[in-house]
Amino acid sequence: MIDPFGRFISYLRVSVTDRCDFRCVYCMAEDMSFLPKADILSLEELEHLVGSFIAKGVRKIRLTGGEPLVRRNILWLIERLGRHVETGALDELTLTTNGSQLDRFAAPLYAAGVRRINVSLDTLDPIKFAAVTRWGKLDSVLRGIEAAKRAGLQVKINTVALKGVNDDEFDRLIGWCGVEGFDLSLIEVMPMGEIGETARLDQYLPLSAVRRQLSQIWSLEEIDYQSGGPARYVRVGETGGRLGFITPLTHNFCESCNRVRLTCTGRLYMCLGQEDATDLRAPLRSGDAQAVGQAIDEAIGRKPKGHDFIIDRAHRGPAVPRHMSVTGG
Ligand code: SAM
Repeated sequence: MIDPFGRFISYLRVSVTDRCDFRCVYCMAEDMSFLPKADILSLEELEHLVGSFIAKGVRKIRLTGGEPLVRRNILWLIERLGRHVETGALDELTLTTNGSQLDRFAAPLYAAGVRRINVSLDTLDPIKFAAVTRWGKLDSVLRGIEAAKRAGLQVKINTVALKGVNDDEFDRLIGWCGVEGFDLSLIEVMPMGEIGETARLDQYLPLSAVRRQLSQIWSLEEIDYQSGGPARYVRVGETGGRLGFITPLTHNFCESCNRVRLTCTGRLYMCLGQEDATDLRAPLRSGDAQAVGQAIDEAIGRKPKGHDFIIDRAHRGPAVPRHMSVTGG
């Protein structure tokens, strides 16, 4: 699949549920209302749709959410998709998780063909962790991460940079990831969805400034490494670990975007930061495989050039009304 800007679309992110067992302050409102269960595709339907994308040349699948590991029977889908890794139809099946369920899922994930996972972790301080996630417990996430490591999964930690919350912890996180052998990516907070009283402007920390500060303490060497996602990496000389910067605000990398996103209701978003989407559920449920293929092709033909997230005094509200939990990170 090639979009109007000549970009080769080979990466599908699938939000398998919009529900989550955390309520991170920058992601969700505390009193979220979720999609009606009747609108949600069954795991068989999701498998079917993902199969259509693989047939069209998608080589990498990331399951996300909400929290992918709280969807009932999710392992069934992971095992089914893992077969495409086994046959060579997929290069990679991976997922993004908050880690709360990893303790019991790590070994089955590895057995299903998953080799790398992203775990979201914004702080190593249990009190801050409880405040940021509202409902999460740091020790269960750390237990999950340990289980992942034991199971042989390569772990990347994703940390959203939050002003006044974890900006004093990046050094600690870099050191910890170095010791544990994890890659670390820092992420700029994106203006997605109403999140209650917390203002984005108060949370937003431009990573250009963070990088300048970090480079006074750590030797950061530019490297070519690409994980297939939007992060740009440096090597941390002192730890030997990789540090990524995901900068949708200070520097978007839309020109190299290779991704589209499928929600658990079968909506296909061509850009995280734009509202345009195509419904794939109706053609899927009509049983017309050709109609599904056509709908995907038309959608790819509309993939926009990029997003335009802005957070400043004049833009305090969300750029898109959708919460991150609908399309996933
Ligand atoms: N529950 C899983 C998790 O926590 O990783 C997967 C879904 S979560 C929405 C995916 C990622 O998006 C997490 O790393 C989360 O921190 C990040 N995220 C959520 N809202 C965000 C926002 N407004 N800006 C930047 N990142 C955000």
